[in-house]
Amino acid sequence: MPKGQISVQTENIFPIIKQFLYSDQEIFLRELVSNAVDATSKIKTLSSRGDFKGELGELRIEVAVDKEAKTLTISDRGIGMTEEEVMKYLNQVAFSSAEDFLKKYKDESSIIGHFGLGFYSAFMVADKVEVHTKSYKKTKKAVIWACDGNPEYNIEPGTRKDRGTDIVLHISEDSVEYLEEERIEGLLKKYCKFLPFEIKFGTKTETTYEGEGEEKEAVETVVDNIINNPHPAWKKSPRSLKEEDYKKFYNELYPYSAPPLFWIHLNIDYPFNLTGILYFPKLGNSIEVQKNKIQLYSNQVFVTDDVKEIVPEFLTLLHGVIDSPDIPLNVSRSYLQSDQNVKKISGYITKKVADKLANLFKKKRDDYQDKWNDLGVFVKYGMLSEEKFHDKAVKFALLKNLEGEYHTIEEYREKIKATQTDKYDKQVFLYTNNAKEHHSFVEAAKNRNLDVLELDNVIDGHFMQHLEHKLSDITFVRVDSDTTDNLVQTEDTTESLLTEKETDKVKGLFEAQINQPGASIQLKPLSSDDQPVVVTRPEFMRRMKEMQAMQGMTMDAFPDSYNVVVNTNHPLIAEKLLKMRSEDKKTEFVRHLYNLALLNQGMLKGEDLTKFINRSIEFLK
Ligand code: ADP
Repeated sequence: MPKGQISVQTENIFPIIKQFLYSDQEIFLRELVSNAVDATSKIKTLSSRGDFKGELGELRIEVAVDKEAKTLTISDRGIGMTEEEVMKYLNQVAFSSAEDFLKKYKDESSIIGHFGLGFYSAFMVADKVEVHTKSYKKTKKAVIWACDGNPEYNIEPGTRKDRGTDIVLHISEDSVEYLEEERIEGLLKKYCKFLPFEIKFGTKTETTYEGEGEEKEAVETVVDNIINNPHPAWKKSPRSLKEEDYKKFYNELYPYSAPPLFWIHLNIDYPFNLTGILYFPKLGNSIEVQKNKIQLYSNQVFVTDDVKEIVPEFLTLLHGVIDSPDIPLNVSRSYLQSDQNVKKISGYITKKVADKLANLFKKKRDDYQDKWNDLGVFVKYGMLSEEKFHDKAVKFALLKNLEGEYHTIEEYREKIKATQTDKYDKQVFLYTNNAKEHHSFVEAAKNRNLDVLELDNVIDGHFMQHLEHKLSDITFVRVDSDTTDNLVQTEDTTESLLTEKETDKVKGLFEAQINQPGASIQLKPLSSDDQPVVVTRPEFMRRMKEMQAMQGMTMDAFPDSYNVVVNTNHPLIAEKLLKMRSEDKKTEFVRHLYNLALLNQGMLKGEDLTKFINRSIEFLK
């Protein structure tokens, strides 16, 4: 009965294995099941090449818990190992790779998924491991290898009758959770959900119904509990899949989620190997809750659902699966980002996503527009964060106006060129982020034949700034802003109905009533259809304040400044006010007009608002 030392040159690594990766202990199961999958696919390959002539039989992997014996067993019908192979692979290859791994990553706390520890990860949860194995080579005898967490091992003749391997873990006292069926099933579902061979874990009862109508009877049958779907959609050819198949797979990944908008099937084998399906979810106005749902696989083995280092951040809004054996998994995160393959993969995915959107926009514009509400956040986010994506998306990013029309940026510029260019030759993109609140300003703009965009998404503030920065000859202006007056179209078009003296008189009346700091009074001969008094806010100041608020600074760092624009051509000013005799009446009248304008901007509040309402009620009496 041979006994031996696993390694002569190093200290005992078992205590380190036990402590190391404490938080990620659970990956031992993935490592062992992956080994079983490898051994199984090897026998399949040997058979298809004609190097193995026997029956393949059922190639399923079985995981079983024995609570009494306190064991967890992983069994496969793969190639198995001869005694020589056991010595070589478990005592040398596996051991030295585990040793290497620990040496390298002892100080790294965040290795993606901790791939690479392999067979010896079993010792994180077991204080004794037995390997019962028999090689597919007919003449070779079965062997049992056993090791109890010392560098010593035992090898003895085995009892296994047919080809394959059982790994028996004698679960240690402090890891008894791995003797709980729910725990193991949960782990299998997490890491092994799409492994390419069936994984059986115990049995389950299935209920089917037999017969018709009244006679209908529930029949319960006990069936094998198969954990995984060995043929996930992303591994199939896109041509063999229908729309329902993609939706079904989405449901498999995210049960109870709203159906996706559309998807991209990724499939490339040069210069790197990558498959997967990325789904565009319905985003609406939310970003954070939707993030980080992409799952990363390596040859159908789940690695992580944290792909931040692998794809550009805006792509983490997408859902789905990326499967690539070419993403180096046992390296640190910071290294990952600078890895050339990862960079290429990230670029490839970004390009595919942009192409898909461009294509959809070109071929099915109506459909694309219908989805813009859910797509917009994603496209805008992408444009903000990725130069390359911006360059493509600037052709299919849409602006929606209050009429419900969609334009690309180029189309929109064309549309408003004649009417909305200001005196500095900038194209003015008028917008509202709250059409209800800005109703009267919107109406006023419409009366002047101006177009108003609806930009009310959380990301729109940044998006506007981004476009202004990229396209230096456009400027976004909110409908209630003062800058709308700079439009060439409205300049010098209306003549004042008042003489200079009369204008001064009106000015005096307003100045006497409005003496808040920050308010500046302007007299303008607007159209008689425009409101008599309008309060507007300087676009620049408002944005500064919004930015401050976003950065958590107090709103008071800048004084609230606004303009009171008196429309000297309005009949209430040009005729009624000027003809009034009583000073009291004039005062009352000016105050009322001013308050109406404040009310319109949502600026009349508290005591002032109460007084205003009471006076209005008085007035009605
Ligand atoms: P890796 O799988 O990365 O090579 P491991 O430490 O997991 O490293 O395993 C070392 C070797 O042991 C494997 O390469 C394989 O040859 C052998 N081995 C492990 N598990 C099995 C198994 N279930 N069936 C056959 N051979 C196995």
